[in-house]
Amino acid sequence: MTMRSVRTISEVRHTTALWHKEGHTVALVPTMGALHAGHKALVEQALNAADKIVVSIFVNPLQFGPHEDFSHYPRTLDADAALLASAGAHLLYVPDSEEMYGNAAATVISVPSLSHELCGKFRPGHFEGVALVVTKLLQQVQPDSAVFGEKDYQQLQIITRVVEDLNIPVAILSAPTVREEDGLALSSRNIYLADAQRHIAPELYKTLLEMRKQWRAGLLAQEIEEWGRTTLLAKGFSSVDYCAIRHAKTLMVPHVGEPARILAAAFLGSTRLIDNMEG
Ligand code: AMP
Repeated sequence: MTMRSVRTISEVRHTTALWHKEGHTVALVPTMGALHAGHKALVEQALNAADKIVVSIFVNPLQFGPHEDFSHYPRTLDADAALLASAGAHLLYVPDSEEMYGNAAATVISVPSLSHELCGKFRPGHFEGVALVVTKLLQQVQPDSAVFGEKDYQQLQIITRVVEDLNIPVAILSAPTVREEDGLALSSRNIYLADAQRHIAPELYKTLLEMRKQWRAGLLAQEIEEWGRTTLLAKGFSSVDYCAIRHAKTLMVPHVGEPARILAAAFLGSTRLIDNMEG
């Protein structure tokens, strides 16, 4: 089976409208390309949920800060298309910036209580950029469901909330984080890591695991967070944006017994790694 590729809103809409008319369900997997086994797992999850799978690749300028890696974010379209075809995706949607934003977008979509915490504190405007592009993609593709990775846990909570608040008729599904054998979460940005940094990187996952043990043993969140930060620095991370235990839905400080999530963001040189797990 061949996978088609389209670049315009009208082509993608036409295709999904036709599929709906034929009685098929449609799932969307939004990505920024440079695809790996984590993205492939999202396609597999989508195939469990729907008949036809659309994968979008769009490196969204609005979600990068002025000093972030937008201009050199890895772009590997041919390899991405091959991976998606082998995963069983049906349509690749690759809009350019002109198609996505025209002159510019004046609308802002923000969930301040979720977006200004954790990564949002360190990447101002990032989640507004994510919320806008995902809302636009949902309107453009009109899928029945859309699949996101737990790897970007805060993003997943924000999108879930936007869809709920705006009554967008789509089911938001999530897939667990796919990891290397040593625990490092797969990420398109891992290629930036030098050998010595790659060696240290799995300590992020190991530190979260240990924080989880401490949380389950009943230690205080604040003490665990401090331990996590100190440990990451001692293991060789250059700096730590946050090491946090939060309520799994609201991302606020959890009370004892509430569902919790353990999240961290830390730098190795100029590469910023994030990871999270259930508390
Ligand atoms: P990105 O292309 O990195 O913006 O990610 C596109 C989607 O893939 C998002 O929903 C991510 O959460 C998800 N994703 C990225 N890395 C992983 C991973 N290691 N495991 C599972 N999902 C992932």
